[in-house]
Amino acid sequence: MSSNHELFQRALTLMPGGVNSPVRAFKSVGGEPFFTERADGPYLWDVEGKRYIDLIGSWGPMIVGHNHPSVRGAVEKAIGKGLSFGTPCPAEITMAETISKLVPSIEVSRMVNSGTEATMSAIRLARGFTGRSRIVKFEGCYHGHADAFLVKAGSGALTFGAPNSPGVPTALADLTLTLPFNDFDAATHLFDELGSDIAGLIVEPVPGNMNCIPPRDGYLQHLRDLCSRHGALLIFDEVMTGFRVALGGAQAHYGVTPDLTTLGKIIGGGMPVGAYGGRRDIMNQIAPAGPIYQAGTLSGNPVAMAAGLAMLELIQAPGFHAELSRRTQLLTDGLQALADGAGIAFSTTRVGAMFGLFFTAQKVETYAQATASDLARFNRFFTAMLERGVYLAPSAYEAGFLSMAHDEAVIAEILRAARDSFELLAS
Ligand code: PLP
Repeated sequence: MSSNHELFQRALTLMPGGVNSPVRAFKSVGGEPFFTERADGPYLWDVEGKRYIDLIGSWGPMIVGHNHPSVRGAVEKAIGKGLSFGTPCPAEITMAETISKLVPSIEVSRMVNSGTEATMSAIRLARGFTGRSRIVKFEGCYHGHADAFLVKAGSGALTFGAPNSPGVPTALADLTLTLPFNDFDAATHLFDELGSDIAGLIVEPVPGNMNCIPPRDGYLQHLRDLCSRHGALLIFDEVMTGFRVALGGAQAHYGVTPDLTTLGKIIGGGMPVGAYGGRRDIMNQIAPAGPIYQAGTLSGNPVAMAAGLAMLELIQAPGFHAELSRRTQLLTDGLQALADGAGIAFSTTRVGAMFGLFFTAQKVETYAQATASDLARFNRFFTAMLERGVYLAPSAYEAGFLSMAHDEAVIAEILRAARDSFELLAS
């Protein structure tokens, strides 16, 4: 069998950077990525048989752990009936009903195949519905890789220092206005100046692509009020936060209702899925009900619907999110105590089962603070943890995710690895 190194060398000759999505390549943290052979519960195993505790969960979807028997069983059952129909199928209705039940602001929804498709479609809808051209996003927020969003974007784009990607026409980028997250006045001023041109404001209600940055008290409501006052649509990109920070997403957690919501990750149970939805009068502008075009060959795929529905069923178990939050807090509190003990400047953030780790003593509330934290230290910590069998996101700008398969014994194992890693950093 090939080693990780051999596979990466082969991959490098065949794929850009050897990967199919940039952050996977370990470019910012250094070293080479491992190649996963299989995954189960909280663990990944690489092709050399090494086991890792996974703190990414496929970048968010695997909230019940990898390879959960109920999700796998639902997929196996669906596969027996065919892989793709190209006609409507009953599971799509169950999915739309489930989404509306869990996220009531979504009266009508449309399934797509990725988070990027969801956000891209949502802004087309906002523009079509309002007849305006400009959109507003936040520095360090990532909404997928559609042209309009690669302006001061977070995540991989931020990691690689190329927030404005070549290939994005200036004429299009000019229509994307950016704001600093958690700054009340900047948002007010922008809307005062350009409000009547703004079709919509898109925001990760808890940004997770400049690491995890909770909104300040009242900030999301402030954005809601500005959008309502100026006739712009408020779009919550809950691709990451949806079904994670609370069963009803960040909008339930903070009690702020957007006009449109985008979803992905958990809703597909590990299959490639996204969705967007919201107010009926707005969504009914989408074809074929209305004139705004959006379509997809594989959208509402029966196997993907089965996986997503099985996962949404599991997370509705009483107390699921409370328990996952408790465990996440156990982890972040434990890490903070160990860093303090080792004399390392370190802070954490957490909303529900989403968390952030920063190598700075400051409480991080802004993009500027996140990007000012000690990246070199993060990279050394990442490598030390990896050597000890714990896989953090290979970028200082990604939020971390726990799953229900990470029980207290697994958390204790993570903390043992962290104790050694912090001590290494301090030495
Ligand atoms: N929106 C947010 C908040 C995300 O975190 C991501 C991906 O990480 C996306 C959109 C894009 O989703 P996808 O990678 O499925 O296209």
